[in-house]
Amino acid sequence: MRAALLLGVDEPLVVETLTPEPLGPHDVRVRIDASGVCHSDVSIATGLVPMPPPVILGHEGAGTVLEVGDRVTRVRVGDRVISSFAPACGECWYCVHDQPNFCERMLDVAMTRHSRRAEGKLVFSMSGLGTFADEMINHEWSLVAVETDLPAEQLALIGCGVMTGVGAVLNTAQVVPGSTVAVIGLGGVGQSVVQGARVAGAARVIAIDPVAMKRATASKLGASDLVDPADGDVADQVRALTGGRGADYAFEVVGRPETMVQARDVTRRGGTVVIVGMPKFDATVTFPAYSMFYDEKRLLGSNYGSAHVRRDFPRIVSLIEGGSLDVAHMVTKTIALEDVDAAFAAMLAGDVIRSVIVPQP
Ligand SMILES: [Zn+2]
Ligand SMILES: [Zn+2]
Repeated sequence: MRAALLLGVDEPLVVETLTPEPLGPHDVRVRIDASGVCHSDVSIATGLVPMPPPVILGHEGAGTVLEVGDRVTRVRVGDRVISSFAPACGECWYCVHDQPNFCERMLDVAMTRHSRRAEGKLVFSMSGLGTFADEMINHEWSLVAVETDLPAEQLALIGCGVMTGVGAVLNTAQVVPGSTVAVIGLGGVGQSVVQGARVAGAARVIAIDPVAMKRATASKLGASDLVDPADGDVADQVRALTGGRGADYAFEVVGRPETMVQARDVTRRGGTVVIVGMPKFDATVTFPAYSMFYDEKRLLGSNYGSAHVRRDFPRIVSLIEGGSLDVAHMVTKTIALEDVDAAFAAMLAGDVIRSVIVPQP
C-alpha cells in the first residue's frame, strides 16, 4: 500500500510504500476511493495537536471493503464504507448511553498500528484511520457501511466535515424551525453548519468569513445574509440584521479564542453558542462572568457534531440523495496522494473549501 506519512512536525509529507500487517479478527482492509483534506490534518502536521510521528495522516475517507478478519460482523467484502474518526464499539458506557462520539475504546483503536515501513518499523495512523493512502486497515468499529451510488468524493466528506457541521446543528444545538443562525468560519465544516441550519428550518442563516469565495459558496449553499469582518464590528453587523438582539444560535467553526468570544457576542440574550472549531491544544478562552449569569446564554461544546455515526452517516447520505444537502459544491478539486502539501497550503490560503484525494490512478 502507498501512504502519505508525517515523519516530523512541520516537515513535508512523504509518500512511501508500506507493508500491511496481517488482519486481526476484527480488522477490515479497505481500498480508499477518496479522502478529504481537513484542517485537523494540518493541526497535527504543524504540531498544534500532538501525535507521535511517523503517522499516516487523514481521517475523512470513503472506500470499498477488500478483506475482513474472521470475526467481523459489521461489514462485508464489497461494501462501500465511510470511516469514522471516533470508533463506535457499541458496548462501552458512552456507546450504551447514546454518545458514541466519546467511545471509550478510541485510544485503543488509535494506538493500534497496522502497517510497516521498509526498515520494519510500525507506523501509527491518525485516529486509527490514515486515509491519506490507497488502502487502510481499520477496526470494524471505525467503519459504517452505506448503500448508495453517490460519488466517493462526497461520501468521504461525510466522515468528518459534513458530520461535524450538520451534527452540530441537528444533534448538539437542535436548532428549531424559524430560528436565526450565525456561522463564524466557512471552511468545510462551516459550510456544513450553514446547510444543516437550512435542513433544520432556520429562517435566517448569517454566514461570516473574511474570504469572499467562502462567503459566495455559503450563499450558494443556503446562507441568507453574508458578513465580511472587514466591513466593521461583527457583533454590530449581526445585531443590525436581527432587530438589535443578536442571533438565536451562533456556531464558532474556526477554533480560536477570539472567534469564540465573538460567537458569544453575536448571540442574543438567552440564545445558544456552539463551539465547533478545534482550538490549539493549550488555548484558553475568557468570558465575562456577570454576563454568563445575567444574559443566560447557553454555551455548548460540540465534538464531531455529537455524532452517532451508525445512525447519522446513512441519514446524511439520504439528505444528499434527496437534494437537501449539497456536498458536490464543497469539493473544490480532486488531487493525487503526492499533492497533499499543496492542498495544505491552498487550505491555509483560503483558496479551497475541500481538496479531495483520489488515490487510485
Ligand atoms: Zn477533520
Ligand atoms: Zn464505545
